[in-house]
Amino acid sequence: MANSCLAGITCALNPILILILLGCGTLVGCSNLDLDTRLGDSDNSLDDVYGSAIDRFAIGIAEEGSPSHSASYHGVSQEILRLAKLPETVEWLKNVRRKIHERPELAYQEFETSALIRRELDEMGIKYRWPLAETGVVASIGTGGPPFVALRADMDALPIQEEVEWEHKSKNLGKMHACGHDAHATMLLGAAKILQERQHMLQGTVVLIFQPAEEAGAGAKRMIKDGALENVEAIFGMHLAYDHPTGTVMSKPGPLTAGCGFFKAVITGKGGHAALPELAIDPIIAASASIVSLQHLVSRETNPLDSQVVTVTTSSGGDAFNVIPDSVTISGTFRAFSNESFYRLKQRIEEIIVGQSLVQRCAATVEFLEKEYPFIPPTVNNQIMHDHVCKVAADLVGSHNLKIATPLMAGEDFAFYTEVIPADFFLFGMKNETCGSIHAPHTSLFTVDENVLPLGAAMHAAIAERYLNEGKSRPSQFSVADTSILQ
Ligand SMILES: [Zn+2]
Ligand SMILES: [Zn+2]
Repeated sequence: MANSCLAGITCALNPILILILLGCGTLVGCSNLDLDTRLGDSDNSLDDVYGSAIDRFAIGIAEEGSPSHSASYHGVSQEILRLAKLPETVEWLKNVRRKIHERPELAYQEFETSALIRRELDEMGIKYRWPLAETGVVASIGTGGPPFVALRADMDALPIQEEVEWEHKSKNLGKMHACGHDAHATMLLGAAKILQERQHMLQGTVVLIFQPAEEAGAGAKRMIKDGALENVEAIFGMHLAYDHPTGTVMSKPGPLTAGCGFFKAVITGKGGHAALPELAIDPIIAASASIVSLQHLVSRETNPLDSQVVTVTTSSGGDAFNVIPDSVTISGTFRAFSNESFYRLKQRIEEIIVGQSLVQRCAATVEFLEKEYPFIPPTVNNQIMHDHVCKVAADLVGSHNLKIATPLMAGEDFAFYTEVIPADFFLFGMKNETCGSIHAPHTSLFTVDENVLPLGAAMHAAIAERYLNEGKSRPSQFSVADTSILQ
């Protein structure tokens, strides 16, 4: 999740949700046994763990389709899962993921990663376009005609030094796939393999989007501008989650991740001797008043039921005990789940800092750093797309492994896609204590349970195939992407 993700900044999110990875497979030889047992047996103890709320959720899903319809798709899902779990496919998935993991690349520098993805697509005989947004790749499988449905994975890593000691540790000093994007790209390649094998079953075209710069730089926005959503009418994306057992699927209709932005203010007064304040204009007092007043934005001006955040994260000015500085710089971030709330916060942050500075006889300039840190809108899931993911997940991993996601204050640049076409973004659990995949993303110990790779590949593939094949029965028809709203 980017500057977004939950990205350096954005991604620094809520530990609760976050995501993913690392190769426990080679570390301790984690067994598939527990997972298979859990996914295959709806009567196991997980039902107790998830509780009655999940039972009700699952019942709601089961009621949507006719028994025969559901049964036929259940067979298709199981066939897709079988293909994903073939020993040679599992080995290939691990191998691809480890290769990407060893060579992490930062935003818009994913050249080796992009080349590896293209090589694998070439070997499968799948056509693609590139580069979009510097390193992005857009592949397609199916009839070549409508409807077009997209699946998205991100490819970028983080400026973190890996501290996990294993055979496939990062070989790029100071860079690490600490958010699971190596697994995301691998799972989408896995879906490509499955869908290519089943292309005769596709009643339309699946578009596979490998995008750069989720963590910083709003890669999704540039991919859209470069035509990644051409003809596409719906899109799905997933992120690994370290805090739910492997195979758990979590999503929700409506806002899932927050819109986020950053600000920086320079408050200028007049420096002087600390013992002669009457001869100076103290910017530290103005900065202090601004910081305190900013807290009232959420506590006093916001509906308590509309979650928002304003956090001041830096404050710097002066370097001596006895000197009043000329200026103070403060910076921070703001988050909200609707564009209306987000832009209200933006406006009020500027008004408060300028106004409080004026009261203290100082001047202030406020910047929102959109060039370095583009605003990320909220990720808003479409109800119908959400229902679709739930139906597929119920077939593939069992309704007992479905959970309604808790909204996150983290940012995720998948949000840009949700602004232009119906979409669903979901979290895919990969917590496995045996493998050590229990560390939050954006940390140096982040580890992925590689057992998730075939499951994620199957989820992607089943979501796309079923979307295309249910086209005629979908409750409403969608038009293709209108990207003109993205300026
Ligand atoms: Zn991240
Ligand atoms: Zn991420």
